[in-house]
Amino acid sequence: MLGGVLSDDVLERLLWGVVLVGAPSLLLLLLWQMYRDCRIETYLFCESCKAADTGDTGRCPICDRELSEMAGFFYTSNSGEEKLLLRRGLQPYRNN
Ligand SMILES: [Zn+2]
Repeated sequence: MLGGVLSDDVLERLLWGVVLVGAPSLLLLLLWQMYRDCRIETYLFCESCKAADTGDTGRCPICDRELSEMAGFFYTSNSGEEKLLLRRGLQPYRNN
């Protein structure tokens, strides 16, 4: 169809160009989504209640104590992932 306008050689180069630019772009998009899904946020937390102050109120959402200690947290609702994290020594904290 485009044979009259573009030679086979040019068409092949265009096809390779799409593949070589498209594949890394797709990979970057997937990696970015994975990174975004396991984003680590820093919050104040209450050690005795095992609760993180995700609302940034400065107080424990359970015992209402004023908080001063901060740590990195990330959210998961996947129980398999939670077990894996426990095995790696991370502790689960509540956020409400
Ligand atoms: Zn507390």
